[in-house]
Amino acid sequence: MNKHEIIIIGSGPAGLTAAIYAARANLNPLIIAGFAPGGQLINTTEVENFPGFPEGIMGPQLMQNMIKQAERFGTTFVYDVVKEVDFSGNNKKVMVGSQVYEAASVILATGSSYRMLGLESERKFFGRGVSTCATCDGAFYKEKTVAVIGGGDSAMEESNFLTKFAKKVYIVHRKKEFKASKIMQQRVLRNEKIEIIWDSEVSEIIGETVVTGLKIKNVINQEERALNVDGVFLAIGHIPNTDFLAGQIGLDEKGYIKVIEGHTKTTVPGVFVAGDVYDFHYQQAITAAGMGCMAALDAQAYLESPKY
Ligand code: NDP
Repeated sequence: MNKHEIIIIGSGPAGLTAAIYAARANLNPLIIAGFAPGGQLINTTEVENFPGFPEGIMGPQLMQNMIKQAERFGTTFVYDVVKEVDFSGNNKKVMVGSQVYEAASVILATGSSYRMLGLESERKFFGRGVSTCATCDGAFYKEKTVAVIGGGDSAMEESNFLTKFAKKVYIVHRKKEFKASKIMQQRVLRNEKIEIIWDSEVSEIIGETVVTGLKIKNVINQEERALNVDGVFLAIGHIPNTDFLAGQIGLDEKGYIKVIEGHTKTTVPGVFVAGDVYDFHYQQAITAAGMGCMAALDAQAYLESPKY
């Protein structure tokens, strides 16, 4: 029977922490973990800021530990993705392939994906000079030239970080001013290895087998020029993974899940949210894990409430 007390959708730090708490509360959670469980941290190398690991821990290892911990207390894993949900009744329905899973309570922890430019060449060179993660790939660019695209805090942070390796970092931004916080901007503006190309967009990523340059278009005068780079890092924000929720739950104008009461309660009673699919500001493993804990406790309280 596919009926459960609690279904968790997503298996990053938020979903897995929710699973650990729900399992330890004897709620026998089912987690729909995706095809590659572990969320964004499975694509990172060393994680140095997750408390409890003074020497650091590799991202995939950290996630493997969380999976084991959730399994130990009785979480059931389904390695597939949710196609759609139906939250109209007291029993929430979660559709996965040809299966329909039902639960009184659902925790949404599907995270967010990196926003891409939408160029064909960006897909062609992904992993061959195009990256969304300076932390993961920066070390490959020792004494090389790279470009970072974007004008937010991520672009500032990634650019500064990349100057530890690269001899030159261009920031290509489509406006004449950054959106990033002042302190982050100042660090960039003071860094002699960084050159900013304002009012410009990437119109093409150039290369044969790996990236060798960019075609940059000035958005004011439409002039195009080539820029020689060995790598390009996209830091143009994130898109919450909420497509499968359309019409079922309150989302904000950017598609993030709305919290209407407390810390994790969504617009649908019995449905809770945790992690980057709600929190576009902090986007940290530890904050997502903390919110996963809160969502599990809120779900538990909901299941124990006389209303339910
Ligand atoms: P943001 O959404 O803040 O910034 C995205 C940037 O990319 C903007 O400058 C935007 O341009 C640009 N952009 C968006 N789409 C395109 C496109 N198609 N082509 C070219 N440029 C594009 O995302 P971030 O990831 O930078 O930050 C997300 C959140 O995380 C923020 O709240 C931030 O404060 C936080 N954060 C905090 C950090 C810290 O405090 N250490 C570090 C990193 C992130 P435009 O300016 O024109 O809108």
